[in-house]
Amino acid sequence: MSPPSAPRPNDGAESPSSSDEHTEAAGGLSLDSTQLDRYSRHIIMDEVGPDGQARLLNADVLIVGAGGLGSPVIQYLAAAGVGTIGIVDDDVVERSNLQRQVVHRDEDVGNSKVESAAQFITNLNPDSTVMTYQNRIDKQSIRDIVPGYDIVVDASDNFPTRYLLNDFCRLQGIPIAHGAIYKFEGQVTTLVPDGPCYRCLFPEAPEPGTVPDCAATGVLGVLPGTVGCLQATEVIKIILDTGDPLTGKLGFYDALEASFEHISYQSDPTCPVCGETPIQSIETVEYAEGCGVSEWTSMSFFDLLCSISVGFLI
Ligand SMILES: [Zn+2]
Repeated sequence: MSPPSAPRPNDGAESPSSSDEHTEAAGGLSLDSTQLDRYSRHIIMDEVGPDGQARLLNADVLIVGAGGLGSPVIQYLAAAGVGTIGIVDDDVVERSNLQRQVVHRDEDVGNSKVESAAQFITNLNPDSTVMTYQNRIDKQSIRDIVPGYDIVVDASDNFPTRYLLNDFCRLQGIPIAHGAIYKFEGQVTTLVPDGPCYRCLFPEAPEPGTVPDCAATGVLGVLPGTVGCLQATEVIKIILDTGDPLTGKLGFYDALEASFEHISYQSDPTCPVCGETPIQSIETVEYAEGCGVSEWTSMSFFDLLCSISVGFLI
């Protein structure tokens, strides 16, 4: 699968290296000497190897949000050689972003986040093709942007986007690496087509205005770095088809306690999206506007325990 006009590395048109040294990998992709050097610490691993690196170079990943969570995802997926990285964000860089949104620089203040993020990738790895979308995700734009991507990273900052991504990607059979942050706490889970969805975990969004705004509560700048790295790891595991994804499990990170916990959750047969009588289209769903949240994304652990009725595995 490939988004429109996304060129592939080493598709025969041009090689970034003048050397004749090449290694054939899966799918007929040829790694040149520059790539063999760049990705040598991947290629030497049995779990990755040249075939795994070729998978990464052939992968198309869409990152929704170029903020605190999106920044480390962008950094590590580009460094890993993900072939096409799509970035969706309609915001411009503000100075208050720079404490945690580390792909943007002081000189980018006032510029669009997607362009700033794209420049970061271009500077880091010429193997990664960047697709930028200066949009909000809504019912129309999601149809235009998401199909064709292999994996979506939910690094968004609001509930309508989160539920819309969940519903649309489920209908399209596209996995999601989900992350969320709040002050010192983070969550991560992986939603795959044959596993429980986000609505199985949180059936409905909280009422608008009932969730604190990051701008009011603050967030530890390094926290989205930790959570975003976990999301990027999940993406790479899916691409490589190795390890156990966080499917049916919500990983919970408490930075103050330096603790990681897991809560298990299951598919809900009454889920309107993945249950026994699922929706057929996002058209029938109302996605409330104006949740008024900014980079909030998670309940406190106590609230979470109180809100989930499925079994726990902590
Ligand atoms: Zn569900």
